[in-house]
Amino acid sequence: MIRFEQVTKRYRERVALDAVSWGMEEGEKVALVGPSGAGKTTILKLITHERQPTSGTVTVGTFHGGSLTRRSRALLRRTLGIVYEDFRLLNDRTVLENVALAVRIAGNDPEEQVLARARWALDEVGLEMRQGSFPSELSTGERQRAAIARAIVNRPAVVLADEPTGALEKKNGDEVLALLRRVHAEGAALLVATTRIEVAEALGARVLHLEAGRLSGSELPAAPGSSRAAAAGAPV
Ligand code: ADP
Repeated sequence: MIRFEQVTKRYRERVALDAVSWGMEEGEKVALVGPSGAGKTTILKLITHERQPTSGTVTVGTFHGGSLTRRSRALLRRTLGIVYEDFRLLNDRTVLENVALAVRIAGNDPEEQVLARARWALDEVGLEMRQGSFPSELSTGERQRAAIARAIVNRPAVVLADEPTGALEKKNGDEVLALLRRVHAEGAALLVATTRIEVAEALGARVLHLEAGRLSGSELPAAPGSSRAAAAGAPV
């Protein structure tokens, strides 16, 4: 589903990621854990193709790096749902319109189904009663739930979340983690970047430790049929 092979990313002379290799399968739950500046957001931006690797290969589903055409960018958008620490909702639109916009941008639903789909997503996160509210009228926990509705509305294969509880108090944070667990249980793969190991533990995620652009404890699963797979007795 997602595979990084020997991926290095430099911003000018600064090495943000140093020959990183890892992978996750469809439906998996993975946490990238590391301090600020470790390279977590860079990994997420390489997955969304907002950034290109300096060297190495990033594969996301059927996308194998390189710059994308407009059409494949739209397709990638439908594959990925993204949740940010600071929610990134549009303040001049209602909650319903924020979520509906993501459906329109993905462009795979006729207009008459757009609002129905957006209402379904708001129902999933328990915000159907707040659909006419503006983000400024919501609590911070509700804002993050609205952002999660926007991330899942196109039923993506993978939900990426960058420090999803960073701006929340404990109770709201716990609710958001429970919601992400449910999103995963309903079939999406989940990749969370966080500085806090407790977040990874609460999600029950496989942990990849990232520090100064290097991963530890994260052997890339051997490709079926490779000598490593055979040596490990893995099914070929
Ligand atoms: P994290 O998400 O773990 O905090 P980042 O991926 O944001 O880490 O950053 C990794 C490293 O790359 C840091 O040293 C950061 O300063 C650097 N970096 C990130 N983005 C840029 C950029 N646009 N220009 C220069 N350096 C950057």
